Amino acid sequence: MHLVTIGGSDAGISAALRARELDPGTEVTVVVGDAYPNYSICGIPYYVSGEVPHWRDLAHRTIDDLKATGMQVRLNTLATKIDVKSRKLHVVDDSGNDELLAYDQLVVGTGAIPARPPIEGLFGSDALGPEHGVHLLHSMGDTFELMRTLEVAQPASAVIVGAGYIGIEMAEGLCSRGLSVTQFEQIPEVLPTVDPSLGALVAAELASHGVDVKTSTAVRQIARAPAGSSGRLRIDAVEASGSPITAYADMVLVVVGVRPETTLAVAAGAKLGAGGAIDVDRGMRTNLDGVFAAGDCVVTHHRLMGLTYLPLGTTAHKQGRVAGENAIGGSRAYAGSLGTQVVKIFDMVAARNGLRDREAVAAGFDPLTIEFEADDHKAYYPGSHRIRMRYTGDRKVGRLLGVQLYGHRHAEVAKRIDIAATAIFNGMTVDEMSYLDLSYTPPLGSPWDALQAGAQAWVRESRSSPAFEPMTT
Ligand SMILES: Cc1cc2nc3c(=O)[nH]c(=O)nc-3n(C[C@H](O)[C@H](O)[C@H](O)COP(=O)(O)OP(=O)(O)OC[C@H]3O[C@@H](n4cnc5c(N)ncnc54)[C@H](O)[C@@H]3O)c2cc1C
Repeated sequence: MHLVTIGGSDAGISAALRARELDPGTEVTVVVGDAYPNYSICGIPYYVSGEVPHWRDLAHRTIDDLKATGMQVRLNTLATKIDVKSRKLHVVDDSGNDELLAYDQLVVGTGAIPARPPIEGLFGSDALGPEHGVHLLHSMGDTFELMRTLEVAQPASAVIVGAGYIGIEMAEGLCSRGLSVTQFEQIPEVLPTVDPSLGALVAAELASHGVDVKTSTAVRQIARAPAGSSGRLRIDAVEASGSPITAYADMVLVVVGVRPETTLAVAAGAKLGAGGAIDVDRGMRTNLDGVFAAGDCVVTHHRLMGLTYLPLGTTAHKQGRVAGENAIGGSRAYAGSLGTQVVKIFDMVAARNGLRDREAVAAGFDPLTIEFEADDHKAYYPGSHRIRMRYTGDRKVGRLLGVQLYGHRHAEVAKRIDIAATAIFNGMTVDEMSYLDLSYTPPLGSPWDALQAGAQAWVRESRSSPAFEPMTT
């Protein structure tokens, strides 16, 4: 058995590790387009901020750790064509040498590439790039270019286009380095993965640390600024009202999401699904014989929404593990995502999972969403913080559908969103949350945890709904 995986990030490496773990007799080759296998790109903002001193510290495992598992790792090697019929992968190394790799099973883990929004100055032969201080961010290569700008050009100011979780983490990272940061977001709130009332709290936290947040403002053009301007780049944007805004900055970072990298798989005949990602079943099988796929390049099986596209590192690891197991004869089904996410914004943390109200409607539920606030631990013990939460449940049967949280970074928001994830995963009702046996000591919690107080508030509200018929699980 020769298993070949394409991609050296979360999905490709997870598949390779799982196959070697289950059957050390399996020959495994990982083909990696760059020289940085198994790096935690999720940690890039903390390397940029300086909290992680060296980029090598971001390695989940070193190349020697990987080789010690018995896998072969082919660095700086691009997969250029999959020949499904003959089960051969065409690869080319950085010296231009072509080779045909015979495989028995293949896992495609080509990931995603940063989306490039329709902004003048980002396209065409005279597009601005890293050498002008204009950056996209996804890979370690992108990170090195960004760090070169930061260290060589010593920018004083930055514009960030996009206020999703990566844009927000990078706003903090660049502020920590002393840059003055302006953040443009075309929709009315930052962090659009949470509801606007929590997004507004995130925006306030950014602003309180000096980030100039400009929401409902779409960037239209990035150009070199004339000499004598207050930055080397000119950024033209337009507010929702139609009013133009011009900003100047020494660098621009465009982080507006990703799109799945499917070129190779599509050329081989792979079927695409949600979000233009490779269609896979829950065993991570594509429609191509002997070809599995996992990670940011594939559709996401969501436990409540069905098929969607929700690229996350936590998901890529699990999908990769399933693909690696099944590629060597296993029969594992990916359990499904709940889109559980958490992001630190300076001193605060926002988290979410499951469905928000309108997502629940689209998925065929009858949702009720409430907003509530409770202490993270007994208020008489010093250092307590309020946690703001939004609870979404199905008003007919009481099933928990989604939770959104916002609280201080020491308020254990991540622990609480993970409790909610476990409850949703297991199909619990909101009411059942109250009876979970959660831990309690005054410095760390309350007899009714904040999450349970929120559950009780939801149940009170829902009981006034005439449609309520509690489900039993
Ligand atoms: C700044 C940042 C912060 C993030 N933070 C979080 C977080 O906190 N939590 C979270 O869950 N997720 C986070 N993510 C998302 C997470 O990193 C991705 O979902 C995850 O890395 C996807 O892994 P992947 O293996 O599918 O693909 P990718 O990481 O995109 O890797 C693709 C791999 O395929 C290789 N490749 C592509 N094409 C070829 C080819 N033709 N031949 C050979 N090799 C090829 C690439 O070189 C690379 O090794 C973050 C992402 C970024 C950029």
